[in-house]
Amino acid sequence: MNIFKQSVENKTCISCGICKVYSKEKIEFEYIDKEQKFIPSIKNQIFEDNSFCIGEEINMKRLSNYRFNKDNLKNPIGFYKNLYVGHSTNKEIRKNASSGGLAPEIVSYLLKTKKYDYAIIAENILDPKNSNSKVIDKNYNIKNSQGSIYHSVNMSTALDVLKKHEKSKIIFVGLPCQIAALYEAKMRISNLDKKEILTIGLFCGGYNKFDGFKYYLKNFLADDQINKIKNIRYRVGNFPGNISLKFNDDSHKIIPRTRNNTTINIIKYMIGTQGYWQFLRCRLCPDQVNDFADIALGDPHLKEYKNYDNDGYSIVISRTSKGQNILLNMLELKRINLNQIEENKVLESQSWVLLNRRHITPYYLIAKLLKFKTPKLINYDHFNSYKTSNYISAIVDMIKLKIPINRFTKNFFIIPFQIFEYLFLTYAPRMILKRIIKILINKKND
Ligand SMILES: Cc1cc2nc3c(=O)[nH]c(=O)nc-3n(C[C@H](O)[C@H](O)[C@H](O)COP(=O)(O)OP(=O)(O)OC[C@H]3O[C@@H](n4cnc5c(N)ncnc54)[C@H](O)[C@@H]3O)c2cc1C
Repeated sequence: MNIFKQSVENKTCISCGICKVYSKEKIEFEYIDKEQKFIPSIKNQIFEDNSFCIGEEINMKRLSNYRFNKDNLKNPIGFYKNLYVGHSTNKEIRKNASSGGLAPEIVSYLLKTKKYDYAIIAENILDPKNSNSKVIDKNYNIKNSQGSIYHSVNMSTALDVLKKHEKSKIIFVGLPCQIAALYEAKMRISNLDKKEILTIGLFCGGYNKFDGFKYYLKNFLADDQINKIKNIRYRVGNFPGNISLKFNDDSHKIIPRTRNNTTINIIKYMIGTQGYWQFLRCRLCPDQVNDFADIALGDPHLKEYKNYDNDGYSIVISRTSKGQNILLNMLELKRINLNQIEENKVLESQSWVLLNRRHITPYYLIAKLLKFKTPKLINYDHFNSYKTSNYISAIVDMIKLKIPINRFTKNFFIIPFQIFEYLFLTYAPRMILKRIIKILINKKND
């Protein structure tokens, strides 16, 4: 069977849109309510012989050899040139950003100075069923691209530009799977390989179905109000941000996430966003820190950056000389601020989740036991080992994907299980006691 059709059937398609690049005919993408993502309509299109689908295969070693001429990775944060914490010096861009506004600042600088012609970005102005990507140039209002979009984005809408404008220089801002798919295509299609593309990658813990957010929003809104959401921004205000909703009648509402919220609500937020509604392919992904991008960006989940009065910072990893030179140039021009940080800080900023993802094999074993169809995986040799804790996380996370979600399971399994996980699965006894008290008094957390 055609690999793209197979990934749709196996539910491992991740809406990256790159199948479009291999197809000689048009491919339509449609938002499928049940799956809450954009699925390509694969019919009788003729594809390049060596077509590749990132939903069906993840080969970290091959991509690593293509990008860095080596595949012996031992460091969980990937191959890199330099590590920083930084931010845009443009106050408005920084204020609108999820973290430090580095992604839009770099795009804006490179387009305005004509160093690059176009950028492919995910736009953040429509409702989840219409979230798409766009090809932008120096005239675009970069504000419309800002903010992390945690539900599925139809990346295919901008990808025709990869086949056109042979000599144009392009910036691609994307998640690890999107960037991996792009480089797999570059490896296979010589016209694309000749194209100058700069990749700005976001760290990624995975997409979440919008129904998961709806589950959480129901604590604050009536069903008919939820159905009138015109746009959702997941991270507004001081880091790590609140949810901002815009409704059909243009009214707005701010909903707390993890700050200024009760412990029970935070547990409900964890239920809605950390497992039950995640995509299978995201659960099986070993690449959290965008291993193959020229510049990778993430959130500094570190005590020193959780000062709620700050305007936002980004973790910045330059992985190639191209990425490094752009950053240094922008630093010299004072378009950005950068301070070097240690490896252990980058690791700490992604907590145990990063190590868990690196040692992903148990997830594949449990997924197969639970009869999920999995992509083929070739991980770095060093991370093929695993510990009991990796197994425990894999069992917990994969069971969450298998549980049917209905009123009964929500009340009698999902909520008690999340409280159990919150208390016992990741923390030491002193922390458990502290958390039991927090649940019992359930007062607002800062
Ligand atoms: C699904 C998802 C999961 C994430 N998980 C983690 C994580 O586990 N750890 C961590 O440290 N950081 C994570 N991030 C990254 C982080 O939240 C910030 O997006 C990143 O640091 C860039 O912030 P910024 O301030 O530079 O850009 P902003 O000013 O916030 O602009 C965001 C940029 O990212 C692009 N973008 C947003 N959403 C998408 C999307 N879905 N697909 C493609 N491009 C998109 C926009 O087009 C824009 O260019 C995640 C982001 C997403 C979208």
